[in-house]
Amino acid sequence: MTHSPANDSLNPTAVRLDIPALSRSVHGKPLVYLDNAATTPRPKAVIEAMNRYEMEYPANVHRGVHTLSGEATHAYEDARRRIASFLGADSLVFTRGATEAINLVANAWGTCHLKEGDEVLISALEHHANIVPWQMLSATCGCVLKVADVDDAGELHVETVLDAISEKTRLIAMTGVSNALGTVTPIANICEAAKARGITTLVDGAQMVPHMSVDFAALGCDFFTFSGHKMYGPTGIGGLLAGKDTLDNMPPWQGGGDMIETVSFEGSTWNTVPWKFEAGTPNIGGAIGLGAAVDWLSNIGMENIAAREKNLLDNMVNRLDGIERVEIVGRPANRSGAISFLIEGMHPADVGAMLDRHGVAIRAGHHCAQPILHRMGHQSTARLAPAFFNTEDEMETTEAAIRRVIDVFG
Ligand code: PLP
Repeated sequence: MTHSPANDSLNPTAVRLDIPALSRSVHGKPLVYLDNAATTPRPKAVIEAMNRYEMEYPANVHRGVHTLSGEATHAYEDARRRIASFLGADSLVFTRGATEAINLVANAWGTCHLKEGDEVLISALEHHANIVPWQMLSATCGCVLKVADVDDAGELHVETVLDAISEKTRLIAMTGVSNALGTVTPIANICEAAKARGITTLVDGAQMVPHMSVDFAALGCDFFTFSGHKMYGPTGIGGLLAGKDTLDNMPPWQGGGDMIETVSFEGSTWNTVPWKFEAGTPNIGGAIGLGAAVDWLSNIGMENIAAREKNLLDNMVNRLDGIERVEIVGRPANRSGAISFLIEGMHPADVGAMLDRHGVAIRAGHHCAQPILHRMGHQSTARLAPAFFNTEDEMETTEAAIRRVIDVFG
């Protein structure tokens, strides 16, 4: 389906027809899918692109001389070009997702650019994927992990980040959007301040890409990481954006086929970027599926998506605020993607399980972001993560289901 670029043109009814999973029911109720921060459902265009690869040209890339391999190579490299262009970059390194992309940077860049005492600055909002790789790196190279705190609303302030910078800060690695609280961070300002001080930057864009227009060149960071399955693409594919010079100055982090130019028992030489960082047979069908996902998103328009999602989030926050015994955790001024909440006297896991009986799919737990939940005074929350395909009726259904859960639980 095609949408015009006017920002009031997004028609959720039409979009929903593109996504087969949305028409199913759960426990006899129509599915209300509100777990998009964990993973987004796949549109037909993505499923069909992957099917075409499997049915028509299921060959390996780069090495083959036959027609099918040529077709697979063309589709894989064309997907790379379209995904990079969608994100305002010249090229990208395919990875399994944001987690692998951050690990790639920690291993390939970190091990040769950081030494004992150098500081890596993250924020209190980070997903475990942007905490643990730096802790592992710290254990091997002696770098120090520092954390810029948020305020009690879950907001990250540029001034706090600036205060946490020292003459030893070598890398600032921060998320653009918190998956747990929905906080949109001032990441462009942080990158600008870091650049002025000669500090390298990594932006964890896993929760940005599905919700807003991203322009890697304009953002001004050195590294940008993302996951395909959070942007309507398949699982097991994602990527790393970085300038060619930056990548050229990093050693490969995994060895094997495809990442080499020559191999002998005496030593090997490396392929050029981005292939230097793609050892072994890649997720070819996944890359092709992700290419179809960005075509689909471009057609709908990221501005349309952002405008619609803002309305849905405001709608849901207002509804939650009107329910006694419900507490919203995190009150960022600029919210994207997620609303964490608690029901007084109930464990979030029970809330999630009971909402599931009403067909409402949410996430409950620590959201792989334990430190920020502890910072907000909790072990876990229930999380509503609507996307542009959700409807106002579904927000109403969700409110009614939450009220029912509270009534039944007592
Ligand atoms: N960063 C953020 C902000 C996330 O929300 C997630 C996943 O929830 C990740 C990184 C890790 O993504 P993946 O598990 O797809 O590698």
